[in-house]
Amino acid sequence: MAEKRDYYEVLGVDKSATADQIKKAYRKLAMKYHPDVNKDPGAEDKFKEINEAYEVLSDEQKRATYDQYGFAGMDGGFGQGGFQGGFGDFSDLGDIFGSFFGGGFGGFGGQSRNSNAPRQGNDRMMRMSINFMDSIFGKTETVSLEVDETCKHCNGSGAETPNDVATCSTCRGTGYVMTQQRSPFGVIQQQSVCPDCHGTGKKVTKVCHECNGKGYEHKRVKLDIKIPEGIQSGQQIRIAGKGERGTNGGPNGDLYIEMLVKPHPTFTRQGNDIYMSAPISAIDATIGTTIAVPTVYGDVDLKIPEGTQPNQKFRLKGKGVKTARGGQGDQYVEVRIEIPKKLSKKEKELYEQLRKGQKDNPFERFKKAFK
Ligand SMILES: [Zn+2]
Ligand SMILES: [Zn+2]
Repeated sequence: MAEKRDYYEVLGVDKSATADQIKKAYRKLAMKYHPDVNKDPGAEDKFKEINEAYEVLSDEQKRATYDQYGFAGMDGGFGQGGFQGGFGDFSDLGDIFGSFFGGGFGGFGGQSRNSNAPRQGNDRMMRMSINFMDSIFGKTETVSLEVDETCKHCNGSGAETPNDVATCSTCRGTGYVMTQQRSPFGVIQQQSVCPDCHGTGKKVTKVCHECNGKGYEHKRVKLDIKIPEGIQSGQQIRIAGKGERGTNGGPNGDLYIEMLVKPHPTFTRQGNDIYMSAPISAIDATIGTTIAVPTVYGDVDLKIPEGTQPNQKFRLKGKGVKTARGGQGDQYVEVRIEIPKKLSKKEKELYEQLRKGQKDNPFERFKKAFK
């Protein structure tokens, strides 16, 4: 195992960085090194390193301990078992993924009244970058990602058999308990989540041997993502049930994959139309020619008529993007006329001849109109 790097160094922030700066730095790095996105051999280790650093630096108390004692302060764990070294779950990424959805997360401020009702897990967001051509024609891409799946043996109950579940005696199955506190203003009654059953209202008397009572299995799975033809950058593909795990037997959230289409050196896309520019010589523009223009479907002959002007646009009907919904765009070719910078002696002679024989001189015409 390599020497551990300083957590601040890992996140690339100052020792005096604010919580916000740390969060920003973490998000940027986590997006970059997320193993579902980054396939480089070192990415996964890097990702773990980033997560570990963030886990500590994002927590005021842990950060203070780390600042004071360094890694030595980190080894003993932290009371609530928050720091376990073994990563690979998405709890921290939930934050990142969640942020795309404008705060689907973070509802931890108040205690849910109905804490033992099944709740669907949060959605997760991933980004995938694909080639321009793959975005045009579609593709099936296999991604490997970690997901919590409901344990098949206990169906998520965490109990070995359905008979191994009893009602929690502490809260009588309600999932919460009332506590009373004396204060200068009188007795305050407070409702809090039952410490015995953590709000489920149930107690498992014999845990499932498959999942050790967790109710789910943490797995790395391979998914075939079908990218439809004609997909645009920014569009999302939804994969049902591959988001974060639900609570109290609720279903998983969904996974959304946002497509990032890499730019193409020749083609650009606007809506369903494809644009490109093609250089042609001044001679070809003047007397016309036919050129074999590249399209996403292969070369297509384009007739350049006599007297073609600079930046004139030509349309190749039906050579744009076909979409899965039946859309069909065109390709537009803009000609860029190139004037030679150097001429051979022979060419110069020929141009001189052309000049002598030229009927219309634009500049003379302009001067005449000016008078
Ligand atoms: Zn189980
Ligand atoms: Zn209870």
